[in-house]
Amino acid sequence: MSSKCGHTYSTTTDASDTICERDPWRGHDECIWHADDGGKPFDELKRERKDDPEKLDGAILRDVNSGSVNNSQARLLRKGETPKEGFKVGTSPIDFSNCSLKNATFENSRIMSTIFDGADLSGATFKNSDLHSSFFNDANLSDVKFNNSSFDSSEFEGACLNFASLCKSHFHRVDFEDASLTGLSVDRSHIARSNFKNCSLDGARISDVTAYEVNIESTIAVGMEISDSDFKRSSIEGLSGERIEIRDSNFIGSTFIGNTFDISELSRVDFTGADVSNSIFFESSMDDIDFSSASLHNAEFKKTKLNDIQLSNRTEFGEKCIFEKNADTAIEEDSFVNLALMRIPPIYMAFSGESHKEISKLEDSAYVYGEYQRILQENALFEEAREYRIREKESWRKLAILRSEFVK
Ligand SMILES: [Zn+2]
Repeated sequence: MSSKCGHTYSTTTDASDTICERDPWRGHDECIWHADDGGKPFDELKRERKDDPEKLDGAILRDVNSGSVNNSQARLLRKGETPKEGFKVGTSPIDFSNCSLKNATFENSRIMSTIFDGADLSGATFKNSDLHSSFFNDANLSDVKFNNSSFDSSEFEGACLNFASLCKSHFHRVDFEDASLTGLSVDRSHIARSNFKNCSLDGARISDVTAYEVNIESTIAVGMEISDSDFKRSSIEGLSGERIEIRDSNFIGSTFIGNTFDISELSRVDFTGADVSNSIFFESSMDDIDFSSASLHNAEFKKTKLNDIQLSNRTEFGEKCIFEKNADTAIEEDSFVNLALMRIPPIYMAFSGESHKEISKLEDSAYVYGEYQRILQENALFEEAREYRIREKESWRKLAILRSEFVK
């Protein structure tokens, strides 16, 4: 048996720090962290954990059980406060704040309310484990594999989970605010009631996921893919990106406001009863989409192919589409155009470069009203279709006036 653990850290630029110098643990060659053995006692692990951040790369925690941990104690510890005497319900948590735990393994373990704030867990694996109510704020979790594990009510604020994968795992009511989730893959998992505010979901792949009542806010998602997932009653606002793909998923009863999808593809998506107002779909394709009872006020579908769109008589487009509203505003602000519309000869006015803006907006609005009529007629909503026939004619009328004035 050697006198030191001797575990070789796989990657390091610091040559003086490539081998673990801890004492061997209980008849093993390696220390308590690196011994490849299950059932390490939780209290012993906690004692061995120094107060300062440690290098624990490649640590193995298998079949470790913390018993019940007092989450309030964990919260106090994180603030650097010592829990008062009398905090007797449950034990104190293990604190890995700012430790390096690269490629660590957590397997068949139940270690609740664990503190990983600021820790580097890149490449780590969590398998068949329960770490609910844990703290991963500002931690590096890139390339981490979460497999069949639970992190319910945990915090991942400001954490980096780039290219991490969540498989058959539970992340109920988890806070991911300000997290970087580039290339994240979420498969057959539960993320309901979780918060994704100011995140990056570029290249994320979300499939077979239960995500009811999630909050997604001010988040970018270039190239994100969502399939076979349930986003019922969610709040999704300010989600933007191009080449987004959403298939076989539902946003029933969700607010889906002010999102921007460019060159994106949506197919077999159910927006029944959703509020999709002020969302923009540009140069996209929407196929087999259910907008029954949905609100589409100020929604834009510019250069977007709308195929097999289901509407009900409770689907609302609003009286005027966004393009006509914009044209009206521009016309109001542009005295030249305003006068032209009032048929006052523009004798004293120089040509204004702004004048084409209103024309293109009115062309867009006429086109959009044409599309509204087509999809309303496809849904046998002839009366509603007639309203937009009137609006389309009105757009053409305004256009004709503008054009005739400008050519003079
Ligand atoms: Zn060691």
